[in-house]
Amino acid sequence: MTDHDQPDDDQWRDKLTDEQFAICRLKRTEAPFTGQYYDCKKEGIYHCICCGNPLFDSDHKYDSGSGWPSFWEVKSKDGIAEHLDTGHGMRRIEVACQSCGAHLGHVFNDGPKPTGLRYCINSASLDLKEKNE
Ligand SMILES: [Zn+2]
Repeated sequence: MTDHDQPDDDQWRDKLTDEQFAICRLKRTEAPFTGQYYDCKKEGIYHCICCGNPLFDSDHKYDSGSGWPSFWEVKSKDGIAEHLDTGHGMRRIEVACQSCGAHLGHVFNDGPKPTGLRYCINSASLDLKEKNE
């Protein structure tokens, strides 16, 4: 399970805040309606907070009412990895950064058209780079 190209936990701890580390590396979930992006309507690209990989586009963001940033599509299927997560007695699909393995959130099947998907993502996993007007 060792990937020599990736920083280890100690290095992530130096690079990330405690909250970012807990969510991205320990797969915690931020409390709803507390993240910096759940209500954000700015235009731009959401990158992985850990490695800068572009993950989501604000064009695909919508207000799901869940209290977490929600997207109905990913920027690129190559950018994210999906894994079955059976933790907490549920069967959910975990969404992670393809390039560094950071935990991002989960994807559900109750999203809007055309995809019907709801990518429910922690703000702490994301870094919005705003589009230049
Ligand atoms: Zn990443």
